[in-house]
Amino acid sequence: MTDVTVIAIDGPAGSGKSSVSKEVARRLGFGYLDTGAAYRALAWHALQHGADTSDAAVVLDVAGDFHYAISLDPDSYWVRVGDTDVTAAIREPEVSDAVSGVARVPAVRQMVNALFRSLVAESGRPGVVVEGRDITTVVAPDAPVRILLTAAPEVRAARRSAEVTTQDAAAVAAALHRRDASDSAVVDFLTAAPGVEVVDSTALNFDETVEAVLSVIERTLSAQSEEATHGR
Ligand code: C5P
Repeated sequence: MTDVTVIAIDGPAGSGKSSVSKEVARRLGFGYLDTGAAYRALAWHALQHGADTSDAAVVLDVAGDFHYAISLDPDSYWVRVGDTDVTAAIREPEVSDAVSGVARVPAVRQMVNALFRSLVAESGRPGVVVEGRDITTVVAPDAPVRILLTAAPEVRAARRSAEVTTQDAAAVAAALHRRDASDSAVVDFLTAAPGVEVVDSTALNFDETVEAVLSVIERTLSAQSEEATHGR
């Protein structure tokens, strides 16, 4: 991508991806880029316009007037569309339900991927932890460290319902499985691509997951610098 070290982390909702990536970035002094926020913000923007998010042409039309900004600072996370702070609004269930429709449009994916690459290049940080669904495969397939963070579906549903307090656990689980099903038609984020290391957080708590990810990063980066030193 650039000389900024990219740590690519993919995984489904409820795998702990966002909170773990943010903490890993903090520990490494790296930036943190939540790519799902761009899809969510575009879905929010489309809903604001009363647009039908299942209609690709309509989504592309509203995408033409989408002014997006996101913080890469793991200690000060915010997302804006134009002058509006949408950090909390993009987590609402209406947005979660609409986001897969937006993410399905190939031209939208190309647009946000270009944006992600420039946010990383201009981060001013030695590295950025980039998390999403297709970071290890499409956005940064050449990243020196590529990780797929997984967890059993029932564990993911339980974690997500602990986060979402406006809906009951069964509704949260149903929404999560619905979103997984539509997302996996676009990107396979449940199987690791060749060279991608799997970290399964099913039986791990938050701190243990952070440690597991950090140890993959340390091991992979030191093996690579060893290879570079020995000219292989
Ligand atoms: O990670 P998060 O759950 O916030 O992502 C929201 C949505 O954005 C996902 O359900 C998916 O539709 C889309 N997404 C994607 N590719 C990414 C990140 C997110 O398609 N790299």
